[in-house]
Amino acid sequence: MTDREAHAIIMRIKRELGDRLVILGHHYQKDTVIEFADFVGDSLELARAASQVEKAEYIVFCGVFFMAETAAILAPGKSVFIPDSKAGCPLADMAPVDRVEKAWDIITGVDPSVVPVTYVNSSAALKAFCGARGGAVCTSANAGKVVAWALAKGKKVLFMPDMNLGRNTARAMGIDDGVVVLWDHEKHDGGLEGKDLARARIVLWKGWCPVHCPEFTVKDIERVRRIHPGIRVMVHPETDPATVKAAGEAGSTSQMLSSIEALPDGGRLAVGTEANMVLRAARKHAGRLEIIPLKEVYCDDMARITLPKLAVTLMKVGKGEGRVELPEGLAGDARKALEAMLRI
Ligand code: SF4
Repeated sequence: MTDREAHAIIMRIKRELGDRLVILGHHYQKDTVIEFADFVGDSLELARAASQVEKAEYIVFCGVFFMAETAAILAPGKSVFIPDSKAGCPLADMAPVDRVEKAWDIITGVDPSVVPVTYVNSSAALKAFCGARGGAVCTSANAGKVVAWALAKGKKVLFMPDMNLGRNTARAMGIDDGVVVLWDHEKHDGGLEGKDLARARIVLWKGWCPVHCPEFTVKDIERVRRIHPGIRVMVHPETDPATVKAAGEAGSTSQMLSSIEALPDGGRLAVGTEANMVLRAARKHAGRLEIIPLKEVYCDDMARITLPKLAVTLMKVGKGEGRVELPEGLAGDARKALEAMLRI
């Protein structure tokens, strides 16, 4: 199927289904896909938007699989689809629950007062793990608030799966590096000794997003400042702490877009995140602002969503084929962790 044929099919099915269909588009999607999105946002904004559209029966999530799972958890009465179920997330895959369970047993063996927190970029199974143990989900926008809540509730936090977001959050909260330890799941006992775990307030899971780390570096920031003297630089908190420090500003995708909107005319900002979002913002504000990608980096998994795949998915929604389904017990525990975050 060509893009042109797919375009016509998508238009026709959108017209036929009307309010019964909602298409969600993550910021990291290509413009050709975003053109059809009823809502554009980050993963959680989109999942919440979908759950609030009363008439929607079918939600098609143009993003990666954990995002479609989150939408299915938050919108239990609706049928959720993703145009390519193989659009995964290497970061989410770095924290398989069987390994997390082993780590949990060792960490709670040293001190039972541990609260698990998972970044929303994680599997439904990991969210359920946290929900079943009194923990919560966080996003890159509210990680500080969620970690503060968890530290008030227990003596330690097990923060998964993104070590960079965890370390950057701890530093922004003024938590001493000496009480932040890294659990390396490839190593025996996480590569830690009992005394490391005993002193820790935050145990970071060794996972990272390959689109942000090690893609964006201090050298990229030095280069952009050489070429564009005086330019502001903002990076995503999934980049490593040295890069965040060199940039001087870090924020989630939504915070980046709000910062861009708030820039005065003539403002200049180099943005360190997936390039589809940055280039779209640059086009939107062309002539008013100078928005440049710190580096042109794309997420291969997000790119798996194409117009022909979206068209084929829409042709099947009425039959329920390819629906994202989760066992009810797992969805219920994952919902507890998401709801805990929404209450914080
Ligand atoms: S950008 Fe990173 S965290 Fe987001 S889907 Fe791609 S690999 Fe996963």
